[in-house]
Amino acid sequence: MDHFLYRDGVLHAEDVRVSDIAAAVGTPFYVYSTATLTRHFTLFDEALGGMDHLICFAMKSNSNLAVLKLMGELGAGIDVVSMGEYLKAKAAGLPGDRIVFSGVGKTREEMRVALEGGIRQFNVESEPELEALNAVAMSLGVKAPIALRVNPDVDAKTHAKIATGKSENKFGIPIATCRDVYRRAGQMEGIDVVGIDVHIGSQLTQLEPFELAFTKVAELTELLRADGHDIRRLDLGGGLGIPYERSNEAPPLPVEYGEVIRKTVGHLGCEIEIEPGRLISGNAGILVSSVIYLKHGEGRDFLIVDAAMNDLVRPSMYDAHHDIVPVIEPLAGAEQAPLDIVGPVCETGDTFAKARDMPPLREDDLVAFRSAGAYGAVMASEYNSRPLIPEVLVHGDQFAVIRARPTYDEMINRDTIPVWL
Ligand SMILES: *Cc1c(COP(=O)(O)O)cnc(C)c1O
Repeated sequence: MDHFLYRDGVLHAEDVRVSDIAAAVGTPFYVYSTATLTRHFTLFDEALGGMDHLICFAMKSNSNLAVLKLMGELGAGIDVVSMGEYLKAKAAGLPGDRIVFSGVGKTREEMRVALEGGIRQFNVESEPELEALNAVAMSLGVKAPIALRVNPDVDAKTHAKIATGKSENKFGIPIATCRDVYRRAGQMEGIDVVGIDVHIGSQLTQLEPFELAFTKVAELTELLRADGHDIRRLDLGGGLGIPYERSNEAPPLPVEYGEVIRKTVGHLGCEIEIEPGRLISGNAGILVSSVIYLKHGEGRDFLIVDAAMNDLVRPSMYDAHHDIVPVIEPLAGAEQAPLDIVGPVCETGDTFAKARDMPPLREDDLVAFRSAGAYGAVMASEYNSRPLIPEVLVHGDQFAVIRARPTYDEMINRDTIPVWL
């Protein structure tokens, strides 16, 4: 459920008319709903009720400072994957002991900055990384709290580009050989082993892969404890999927996911961490765009809008579906006709939808791409020298621009011309 509904014939973001935001900031732009972000966080919080837990929002899905601040105020931790994300989380007011550092290629510089600034735990993905972290921690005279990210060799049954838990993926340490790595970690002066980490992929629409992976983590916990490690924290990653198509069957609910966690690892007495990104931010955002032209082609008609693949890359990168709806509610019984919905970028891949049934639309009409709050703005680029588009946060009947659109001059002046030219 989200808070983008038609009211009096106009799409609203909570209590604000989307058309009013468009008039104030111009299109295209992203809008996020505070109530939806809050609701999704709360669903996870309730799903893990009764277990000691921390929900670490995966900020790679949406890293706007205002969103992070909101998450921090709700009591969330943050899962970061780079120094930039670490520093942004700190800038949003998150204390170090609520920040988890994930990622397959952490540099020594990133390790040092996080150890000095405060960190809850590093999720370590390889032996060389473990050695580097040990060396950096020792040079600072501290111990780095770690979980090893294990690769459980489980098929997440999702898009190949976002599956991470099979042995052929670059992520984690094979679960079969990780006991050795834990033994080595346990002997390192700069390392404090606190737990186990697993993350098998994104946009999972079934619970079974989670159940398989968490069961393996539970078995490993017993083994490692028998080996003398104080395993007190289990980080079970993110990945729960969202319904991108209203007409399709809905993925499992957070409460059902919580039941799987309870059933598989609940008896171990560990603190549970999860790292949801998409489920918290995905349906909490829309992308609003204007129709530039309606173009009649041979055998098909094109709706050319002012948003493009540089603003929202998911359709061209992952063949992803986004529901696209007019901001002015179509009349009941309005006739639908198939349209290819495309952006202005000079690539055939700049196509949002093919032969999508749409109600009548005209130039300057507003359309909204639903479920665009995750992996939308964060993946945007300035390809075709199109400035990054603004982000807006709605809260009840208020809205605020939380990232302004840069001017063309600002974009141009970031480049410099060398003296010899
Ligand atoms: C991407 C990622 C997440 C979040 O995944 P979602 O599908 O957005 O929930 C969590 N943890 C790690 C390590 C990730 O790489």
